[in-house]
Amino acid sequence: MASDDTLPAGWQMVIGLEVHAQISSASKLFSGAATAFGANANEQVSFIDGALPGMLPCLNIVCVEKAIMSAHALGGEVNRHSVFERKNYFYADLPQGYQISQLQEPLMRGGKITISSEDVASKDIAIERMHMEQDAGKSLHDMLVGKTCVDLNRSGVALMEIVSQPEMHSPDEASLYVAKLRSILRAIGACDGNMQEGSLRVDANVSVRREDAALGTRCEIKNLNSLRFMRQAIAYEARRQLAIIDADGEVAQETRLFDADKGETRSMRSKEEAHDYRYFPDPDIPPLVLSAEYIASLKAGLPELPDARIARFIAEHGLSLYEASLLAEDSYIAIYFEDLVGKVEGLSAKAVANWMAGELFARVKEHDVDLSKLVSDFGLSATRAASLLSLIGLDKISARAGKVILDKMLEDSTASAASLVEKLGLQQLGDTKELSPLLEKLLAENSEQVVAYRDGKAAVFGWFMGQAMQLTKGRADPKVLSRLLRELLSGNKK
Ligand code: ADP
Ligand code: MG
Repeated sequence: MASDDTLPAGWQMVIGLEVHAQISSASKLFSGAATAFGANANEQVSFIDGALPGMLPCLNIVCVEKAIMSAHALGGEVNRHSVFERKNYFYADLPQGYQISQLQEPLMRGGKITISSEDVASKDIAIERMHMEQDAGKSLHDMLVGKTCVDLNRSGVALMEIVSQPEMHSPDEASLYVAKLRSILRAIGACDGNMQEGSLRVDANVSVRREDAALGTRCEIKNLNSLRFMRQAIAYEARRQLAIIDADGEVAQETRLFDADKGETRSMRSKEEAHDYRYFPDPDIPPLVLSAEYIASLKAGLPELPDARIARFIAEHGLSLYEASLLAEDSYIAIYFEDLVGKVEGLSAKAVANWMAGELFARVKEHDVDLSKLVSDFGLSATRAASLLSLIGLDKISARAGKVILDKMLEDSTASAASLVEKLGLQQLGDTKELSPLLEKLLAENSEQVVAYRDGKAAVFGWFMGQAMQLTKGRADPKVLSRLLRELLSGNKK
């Protein structure tokens, strides 16, 4: 952990996160307008989202279903009775003059997220609540000189706000929490988790205290849209607060913004300037009343969740916690892995996992894509990758040749692994008939070394292996080679 991320001994950071997750749905929470990312400004705005007079909201049941599934996946209690309220404030990108949200009676209370990593011991972070609400539009300050424009495409898009208890104590923990939350929501198809596109945003509440003292005054850093920025913002903010306390000052409760260019947080509004939202139940929307059967039916339909999948990968495929986490958190990667394991011949699941974690993820990084793109644009389906891995598993090619062929397969998405092996002459020499004469000649030419080996100088064996590999340009099957060499050196075979 970077030293920037820690406070001096005796001090502790306290972090509570409010995560806004966009619910994956074709249309908005209370209107039929589309939600797809990347549309031209104001192309996806219905009269409801634009708040024209006389428009009435109509609740999108798909959003409710996905929110309830999320609640189950987070282990929370779904309230059978929840209420939509108006949160009133004025802003140019909020045409209604209020945001429809839930305050007193949210959809879910309780729940938890388990975090762990090689550095952070396994720990449960309690969730306080989750409610549904609308997103606001977006002010565009850099489109026309001297003017601010507004894009209402996001106006009315369905969000879940998931509020944690203040139970995290480092940027690492906060980051693991968000990553795990994102992987859970993705696994059930409730949110695509794309932080760059704004599908998942974090408000981080940060305070510092002497260990075991009461909670300190917190500041809330708004709208963090990458894990890296969130970590930087939290670390900076904790140090800023500690410096104030060190100078005998008092931290003021306020809302702050993170300036990614400067790596600093700066004040947006103080507690005195805080909005008075004048919440009240929205008269246009009746309370959301759900039957116990309906709630239960959505629980029964949940797919396998990341934590369960991690445990299964450890038990079924013999992976370490680290490997299992790497391959199980993302559904797409997890399905690819198991597809591969089912199709590859001659390699254990663990070896397949190693190949993915090493070779495959290195290519993903190198081409700056995600795995699904490597499949769609480079043609590296699990079936095609399996054909390559099977060549390694069945000792037709060496692991080293496999790397070369993998790159060639990415260059030409139609070339088969077998044809590339042929073309590049990378077949592994595993045939004793081919290897034996070669080795016999090698031994004959180096009789002194043979004598040395027979006199007990074991290291000579490695030298012979190296020579033989050189003679075969690295193509000899090391297993066959070492067996043959041992036989010949010990004089058992002439
Ligand atoms: P608000 O509605 O004003 O945002 P909440 O009480 O709902 O306030 O708290 C919001 C978030 O702030 C929660 O995630 C909570 O865990 C966190 N939080 C509350 N007190 C502290 C504190 N002293 N330090 C850090 N985080 C805190
Ligand atoms: Mg808040």
